[in-house]
Amino acid sequence: MFKFSVVPFDPKRSLKTAVIFAQEKARLLPEAKSMDRIHKGVVVKALKNSRFQGGPGEVFTVAGLSGGERRVLVCGLGKLEEMKENDWRMRGLDIGKRIDELGLAEATICLGSQCGEASTGKAAEALLEGLHLALYRFDRFKTEQKPHQEARFRRVSVAVDRDAVSGVRQGLSGLEGLMAGSDLTRELVNLPPNIALPQYMADEANRLADLGIRVEVLDETRLKRLGMNLILTVGAGATKDQQPRLIVMKYQGAAKDVPFRAIVGKGVMFDTGGYNLKPTGSMEAMKCDMAGAGAVMGLMKALALRKSRVNVIGACGCAVNVVSDKAYLPSAILTSYKGLTVEIGNTDAEGRLVLADSIAYVIDKEKPRDLIDLATLTGACMVALGGQYAGLFSTDDGMAEALLASGKRTGEKLWRMPVDDAYAAKPLLADVNNNGNRYGGASTGAVFLKKFAGETPWAHLDIAGVALSEKIPEPFLQVKGATGFGVRLLVDYLENSSDGER
Ligand SMILES: [Zn+2]
Repeated sequence: MFKFSVVPFDPKRSLKTAVIFAQEKARLLPEAKSMDRIHKGVVVKALKNSRFQGGPGEVFTVAGLSGGERRVLVCGLGKLEEMKENDWRMRGLDIGKRIDELGLAEATICLGSQCGEASTGKAAEALLEGLHLALYRFDRFKTEQKPHQEARFRRVSVAVDRDAVSGVRQGLSGLEGLMAGSDLTRELVNLPPNIALPQYMADEANRLADLGIRVEVLDETRLKRLGMNLILTVGAGATKDQQPRLIVMKYQGAAKDVPFRAIVGKGVMFDTGGYNLKPTGSMEAMKCDMAGAGAVMGLMKALALRKSRVNVIGACGCAVNVVSDKAYLPSAILTSYKGLTVEIGNTDAEGRLVLADSIAYVIDKEKPRDLIDLATLTGACMVALGGQYAGLFSTDDGMAEALLASGKRTGEKLWRMPVDDAYAAKPLLADVNNNGNRYGGASTGAVFLKKFAGETPWAHLDIAGVALSEKIPEPFLQVKGATGFGVRLLVDYLENSSDGER
């Protein structure tokens, strides 16, 4: 990640690249105006001769200032008074994209005190987050290309009013940890399925142990002994070295007697659909079917780096769903860890099986105060919400409201969907059936999971449409590949809904 600092705003300071802001009708903000005066009105003149309107998404470059290599980027905000935290994040993305195009090494963002509905601190944090999200690239397999210029973009300063400097600086103390977690998730989701296998996830978790996270990896032998037949059966078709892993990580940042909260992620490292094989066109992006587990991994890293005062268990249920002579068959009947028997209506509805055992185990073993699962669970959710919102399903209104609020703040938006038993797939010969339904399928999946969460307050996030931007016409954040969805959302949720734990 690039280095960032907070400095007092001084219009006279000569800057190589200054980012200033304008609102609608291309009206410059006060800091921008005072800077323009130093430059003898060059910026205003250039804007007058352009089509720049000052709207969101517009970034205008004025180059060659002071007869040299100095430049000013004018970022459009639209209506300043309506700017919320996430609007600043989106503008950070706009600026990041322009920095990327221009190949800049450093920039100073002149923020000032007018930040609409957001505080200067929150606006600064969101801007930097957006910048970082925009500059991330996954290009390590491109050997013939120059390293991406994120490495070249080294430093950004945020210039604010002198008396706001220390407050803003303090507010940014957790940003690096948050972004490191987000990067880890994006990396794991972007990695191809020949590399990111269940054991790879276990190794990644073990690396987090250096940050003070306790890690336990249950391999296939342990899973067998525990009777975790659902996760084992989903992964049974894979080769011996690709067998399932249930990874349980514990981060204790609050007092010992504060009850742990649990976050469980679906980690289907690749999903062919199994014998209910996916057709060409529906299978190619399925390396992202572990994005829930990837988010949990990034979340744990972020919490540890930020030294968050929360107690959290993160669990990743990891398996590979492929076809072979060992793979499971439609109509098989399995006994889950919880004891419920499950009829396999469709081998492509494997995520809920992996999660069912993972959720039941975490609840049984750790007795968390509440539990959230994240999963790229259903195409139905993707059809319903596209690339802008994840589906939120919950039996607990308090959790749902807190999650929705976190979604608004972080821009990882959620839309609440029904969890109603009327959506349940009807079993013929067992207690439950894992079949999905084309109609209302996201709720069918949620109702299945609910059975395994039992009485524990529970929420399920279906992130199928927001985890990977491929094929989504209007992708989340407009970034390429993995988005890291869930990390920023859940850091915000856990840190803000753990009152009385400090
Ligand atoms: Zn599937």
